[in-house]
Amino acid sequence: MDSGMISKIQKAKRYAEEPQRVTFRSFSVSFAGDHSSYAVSYDQGVWTCECEFFKQRGICSHTMALERLLEPMLSTVQPEPQVQE
Ligand SMILES: [Zn+2]
Repeated sequence: MDSGMISKIQKAKRYAEEPQRVTFRSFSVSFAGDHSSYAVSYDQGVWTCECEFFKQRGICSHTMALERLLEPMLSTVQPEPQVQE
């Protein structure tokens, strides 16, 4: 392997350990919940999920789980709603 490719691979390994270098603009995933799978999408900071809870509240366990997974790579992380105790 040539030295140019070796240095690129080393750089890729370092980049891969710094997820904050990456900011998702948009993506869509299939989220396997406990009971069913849901299409979840993200576009410029706006979440969409096809589950019933999201339709009523605009946030759900699926979008919150993805925020936790991808937090360093999302430009606008929405705060979790305050839970009244
Ligand atoms: Zn959902």
